[in-house]
Amino acid sequence: MTEVSSIAENITMVRGRIAEACSRVNRDPAEVTLVAVSKQKPVEAILEALTAGVQHFGENRVEEADDKIMLVSQSAPLVPTWHMIGHLQSRKVKAVPPLFNVVHSIDSLRLAEKLARVLANQNRTQDILLQINVSGEASKEGFNGVNWQNDAETLTTLVTALQQIAALDGINVRGLMTMAPIAENAEEVRPIFASLRALRDKLVEETGVPLPELSMGMTDDYLVAIEEGATMVRLGRAIFGERN
Ligand SMILES: *Cc1c(COP(=O)(O)O)cnc(C)c1O
Repeated sequence: MTEVSSIAENITMVRGRIAEACSRVNRDPAEVTLVAVSKQKPVEAILEALTAGVQHFGENRVEEADDKIMLVSQSAPLVPTWHMIGHLQSRKVKAVPPLFNVVHSIDSLRLAEKLARVLANQNRTQDILLQINVSGEASKEGFNGVNWQNDAETLTTLVTALQQIAALDGINVRGLMTMAPIAENAEEVRPIFASLRALRDKLVEETGVPLPELSMGMTDDYLVAIEEGATMVRLGRAIFGERN
């Protein structure tokens, strides 16, 4: 995690920790995709991680990603899988399908509809996740998922949104994504991850839409997220060091 350790060393350490967390809960580490979050980091850092065996990269801004994805494709024989993890503005949607393999941050029906129109024009399809705000933190984007277990209206709204989005041509809903609040101790956010997983199970039961992916867990809380069922962890600082 410190600036002195190399990216390759960080990756080795993170992979070891992921394997340990998996073994604690009898999961196969192959079920957990490591998404290296390269936002604000230079192309050289991405190439170093790619060379060290990381295949999945996350970016949160379309313009920044556009430049970096082009440079990586010119410099490396390996072709990474790119994940859009940041809030997506409607006017930038057009640029997304040619750049990203997976969008984690679909947070409204309107945004999904816009993406579907773009996909139709571009003759493409797109894997997406629905971002859910389970914690209720005002700073977090996403569909409202606060207290969904005890609030029938919240659950019904989510079921309806999922059905409408899953019916859109070109869009493959693959699962759910959430961000936990910043906590001093990762154990404090375990209920957030458990809630997202239970919500996934409930939505599958209610809609029949398979939702295999749970994108949850960042540098400070990924081990707990894996114990609660994460299939994608999004790690920035653990791999690339602190951001400025
Ligand atoms: C920045 C970011 C991450 C990575 O955060 P770290 O704490 O550096 O691991 C993960 N997910 C999203 C949505 C982010 O914006």
